[in-house]
Amino acid sequence: MVTCSQPYKGVLSLPKHIQAIRGMNDLLPEHAHYWQFVEDTLVGTLARYGYQEMRTPILESTELFERSIGEVTDIVEKEMYTFADRNGDRLTLRPEGTAGCVRAAIENGMLRNAALRLWYKGPMFRHERPQKGRYRQFHQIGVETFGFAGPDIDIELILVSARMLRALGLTDLRLEINSLATPEVRARYRSELVAYLSAHESRLDEDSKRRLTTNPLRILDSKNPEVQAIVADAPRLLDSLDEESYAHFRTVCAVLDNAGLSYTINPCLVRGLDYYTRTVFEWVSTALGSQGTVCAGGRFDHLVEQLGGPPTPAAGFALGLERLVVLLKERDAVVPRSAPQAYVVHFGEGAARSALVLAESLRDTLPGLRIMVHCGGGGLKAQFRHADKSGARFVLVLGDTEIANHVVTIKDLRDTIPQQTLPRADVPALLGKFLQTVA
Ligand code: ATP
Ligand code: MG
Repeated sequence: MVTCSQPYKGVLSLPKHIQAIRGMNDLLPEHAHYWQFVEDTLVGTLARYGYQEMRTPILESTELFERSIGEVTDIVEKEMYTFADRNGDRLTLRPEGTAGCVRAAIENGMLRNAALRLWYKGPMFRHERPQKGRYRQFHQIGVETFGFAGPDIDIELILVSARMLRALGLTDLRLEINSLATPEVRARYRSELVAYLSAHESRLDEDSKRRLTTNPLRILDSKNPEVQAIVADAPRLLDSLDEESYAHFRTVCAVLDNAGLSYTINPCLVRGLDYYTRTVFEWVSTALGSQGTVCAGGRFDHLVEQLGGPPTPAAGFALGLERLVVLLKERDAVVPRSAPQAYVVHFGEGAARSALVLAESLRDTLPGLRIMVHCGGGGLKAQFRHADKSGARFVLVLGDTEIANHVVTIKDLRDTIPQQTLPRADVPALLGKFLQTVA
């Protein structure tokens, strides 16, 4: 209320509306079907390969990420949402799902003679600069396997990810693969790379100069064209793989060839996280600029041990769901919506209650039927408008006459099937038939 003693300053003087946090989005109902389609399709594909769901908390102790992701990565250096809770414990909103999954597997004793194929989905949090395809709360479906040392699981993971993306109708993505060898080989390569890049230090950008001492391998995937030109002539890790990593990589490539999956070997492909070993891969779209990677993963044979578990080979990947949804929307992909199939309108004394009872009995008799009952009153004309808006194909009418005669009128909103009035007991059979006709 505005009082006389305070001059009225207009809308601006009203309390500010509380808004969502920057980079964290609401998912509104009109977009929900994209997400349901993406999640159902991806999870359905994982079931076809025998992967099982795992759920872990969104909050973990900060140390888990410092020890797994690596202290000199972008994520740990500047992207984590970290705070002290009421007990003063340092907690972090998970920036990715692998660390929590490994922690849970160790803690629950799942890694003895492990042969695990797991998946998880949910929100991740990184304090990045929000832009299309990059948010501060985003969602991933991730897949992790434990206990498989050979290249067979790397290949399976790549094939699963390929099928997941195909199932969404995304058939024009590029698969890039590389090998990051073992930590020992990488350490030797790191000094070679640093020696080479130091010789060109004056031409490196600030970011790369800093990384020269912290995380030089990340310079390889710099987006800066001038840095890229220097990197083009840098020594390549792929040329100095140890024998086993080489054989591993050769098998991965050979089986992908046999499976008819095209890929590009990208010697500059290094992942943002420190823990990868040997095979790494990414699925990239050209449609999203520098947010083009929709799926990324690889092998991480030492992470379990690094987090205090028994030595356990591991490999996995994660898909960024926002980027997949953006791609589907940009392509005007036809994505199924689970609109109601039927809508009940009613008019007159007691009809509202009859309508609710009728719909309940139809749901009992016709499993899977999606039927809505009009609520909130209003004339038949207005109710028909609501029915139309709901996306339902059929309207069940319970007017005065129908109530008096214990009948129901079924109307096809597209006017293809002639309208019929029939006894209530016959409604399930006829509605069932109608739905089959239009399916
Ligand atoms: P980028 O290079 O794009 O920052 P990343 O290497 O940091 O990606 P990963 O940690 O490998 O990404 O995560 C796997 C996938 O999760 C990415 O390929 C991407 O699809 C998605 N992703 C990562 N960060 C974000 C973000 N901030 N917003 C939306 N999706 C993201
Ligand atoms: Mg990133």
